[in-house]
Amino acid sequence: MFLAALPSVTPSFSRSASRPIRRVAALPLGAWLLVALLATGAAPASAQMEPPPLTIGTASPSGVYYLTGRALCRILTQPCLAVGTGGSVANLEAVRAGRLPMALAQSDAQFRAVEGLEEFAKAGPDAELRSLFSLHSEPFTLVVRRRAGIDHFQDLPGHAINLGNPGSGQRGTMDVVMNAVGWTRSDFTQASGLPADQQAFELCHGNIQAMVYTVGHPDRSVGNAIRLCDARLIDVEGDVIEALLAEHPYYSRARIPAGLYGPDQAAVDTFGVRATLIASSATDPDLVYDTVKAVFENLPRFQDHHPAFDELSPSIMIHEGLSAPLHEGAERYYRERGWID
Ligand code: GLU
Repeated sequence: MFLAALPSVTPSFSRSASRPIRRVAALPLGAWLLVALLATGAAPASAQMEPPPLTIGTASPSGVYYLTGRALCRILTQPCLAVGTGGSVANLEAVRAGRLPMALAQSDAQFRAVEGLEEFAKAGPDAELRSLFSLHSEPFTLVVRRRAGIDHFQDLPGHAINLGNPGSGQRGTMDVVMNAVGWTRSDFTQASGLPADQQAFELCHGNIQAMVYTVGHPDRSVGNAIRLCDARLIDVEGDVIEALLAEHPYYSRARIPAGLYGPDQAAVDTFGVRATLIASSATDPDLVYDTVKAVFENLPRFQDHHPAFDELSPSIMIHEGLSAPLHEGAERYYRERGWID
């Protein structure tokens, strides 16, 4: 059962490391080693002798992105490392700056990066951002302490809430929601910026009464909060959410099914995005081609890594949630398969 297979911060190397390795982006070797060192906190003895692995930026080591990155690395034939990061927005910035050749990012954050909106306004539109495919659905998830007096999404003002760490996808989505509703941080008694791996802990200790997380389900930290800390999920609905759905094609209705986190957890209606795999136009086209080929030719094996991947199919993955143009390496493979013209 996947919950038993908790992620560790150990780097995930693919099973086969025997193929020749290509450069993954126009970065000096030292920069890649630095990425790996920052990610692992230790240098393998042979690091200076070996070409760098493909590095995939994920998010908190406790989340589904990290498991996704590791699952991708297991499918790929080239050496591969899934690294923990601040999340979608941090990943989009790192890919743009050439610090990561590939990363995961929410479809709404991908859109804002392409267009140069909100947190990407200062940097402007990212013309070099490319998409490979989309992955699991990520409902915008609101977890509250049972006795906090929060029965509806609209009840959040006046409570201590975690908005997510800057750089995370949930922080970006929450900012969009807050702007749409007209809330500012001062509407909450506390508005913290804790990372995903700390927020359930703080909720358990009563230091916050609500947390938001844009994440695939089931997720370990959401499960811990519900099972161990007297927390529950609540709907995120209302006129403002309807307006967001109508306005933005990358938001869609999402439902967290009943019973996923225990027998008395009711189904929850909210809105959501898709996780996507992104790269830069500078990322090696052969590397991207090999990555998409490995995933689509081993899709059932990839899907076995997490229940959130059950719904995936090529038609969803190459059509939904991709605002950036397809990377040329991905396009080549999809053309060969006859999936695009
Ligand atoms: N969607 C979150 C983010 O972009 C990450 C969720 C996860 O780790 O699974 O930061």
